[in-house]
Amino acid sequence: MKNGRFGIHGGQYIPETLMNAVIELEKAYNFYKNDKNFNKELNTLFNEYAGRPSRLYFAEKMTNDLGGAKIYLKREDLNHTGAHKINNVLGQALLAKKMGKTRLIAETGAGQHGVATATAAALMGMECVVFMGEEDTIRQALNVYRMRLMGAKVIPVTSGTATLKDAVSEAMREWTNRIDDTHYCLGSVMGPHPFPTMVRDFQAVISKEIKEQILEKEGRLPDAVIACVGGGSNAIGSFYHFIDDKNVKLIGCEAAGRGIDTLETAATINTGRLGIFHGMKSYFCQDKYGQIAPVYSISAGLDYPGIGPEHAYLHDISRAEYVAVTDEEAVCAFEYLARTEGIIPAIESAHAVAHAMKIAPKMDKYKIIVITISGRGDKDCAAIARYRGENINE
Ligand SMILES: *Cc1c(COP(=O)(O)O)cnc(C)c1O
Repeated sequence: MKNGRFGIHGGQYIPETLMNAVIELEKAYNFYKNDKNFNKELNTLFNEYAGRPSRLYFAEKMTNDLGGAKIYLKREDLNHTGAHKINNVLGQALLAKKMGKTRLIAETGAGQHGVATATAAALMGMECVVFMGEEDTIRQALNVYRMRLMGAKVIPVTSGTATLKDAVSEAMREWTNRIDDTHYCLGSVMGPHPFPTMVRDFQAVISKEIKEQILEKEGRLPDAVIACVGGGSNAIGSFYHFIDDKNVKLIGCEAAGRGIDTLETAATINTGRLGIFHGMKSYFCQDKYGQIAPVYSISAGLDYPGIGPEHAYLHDISRAEYVAVTDEEAVCAFEYLARTEGIIPAIESAHAVAHAMKIAPKMDKYKIIVITISGRGDKDCAAIARYRGENINE
């Protein structure tokens, strides 16, 4: 990896006005990532505040029921705020503080990254402003309340489709206006360098722990690691320390929505094309004119029209495989894990569970699969009930 490139992907496709902010961030990150005190402080936050290490749980009932490979669940749903997003946000907030910044801005879709950022800002005594598509502020009113409760200001974005991609654009614009006291806390492994690398490094704690835990429990590495992919941060975090272990299959699960042969999909690798957007070169869902296509998934956390550049590269060199999982398959997996193991996964994570349910029965009993449960599913219960034709009060 050189100059923030992953093969032909990545880079810094940004306006001149943002260049200074990005260069300042890159310098600071290059310094602090090797700083002993920074890493010690971050580790303490991970352990004492976020509740790490998260458990690697042997799903015995699911394993017996599917009758094939041994299944382990990496329980990122047990982290404070209920998902992997806290790993990235604690890292960036601590870095911003070291850089002398007093204000965090962030984009959010479903509100999960906004809530995580508001959490870190409250903890570290920083000002926090979250950009959220107006459409999403209505759909996710509870998360808007959570952010405000923790002292953040939520700004509804009305441009474009008034959803996640417009919130990212607005946050980038705001960063250009106020770089002196503000850090843009980006929510996934996307955007201009150094974000894809930096966010990956903060999330890589997931695969570092999986490796230690599986070696302790099984005395060997897993045969496959499976994770869902929106921008790709929980997936790259789950893959990272296994990339050089060629016998470990890495499988990313994209949201197919109503199917990859329909227009209502968010499966970027399976349906997208090479493009440049939000500061990076990667694959994007596009219409026939090359405009960013509107995307759809039942899972708000996966309906982003792009994918992080490192995943695009891992796909190009065939090191990782990217499969598409439909709404219906994800909902069935959501219900299955709840019933079988008493664990309600986030609907995002249920995409990974669904793929494991397809491949585990065909694998030998001595094979091992690790599924990353990126978050917990309390937030999704009302929507899944609605999907099944039942109305419950939120
Ligand atoms: C945001 C989110 C995702 C998708 O983001 P990635 O960057 O692809 O990890 C997945 N799962 C949960 C629970 C989320 O909150």
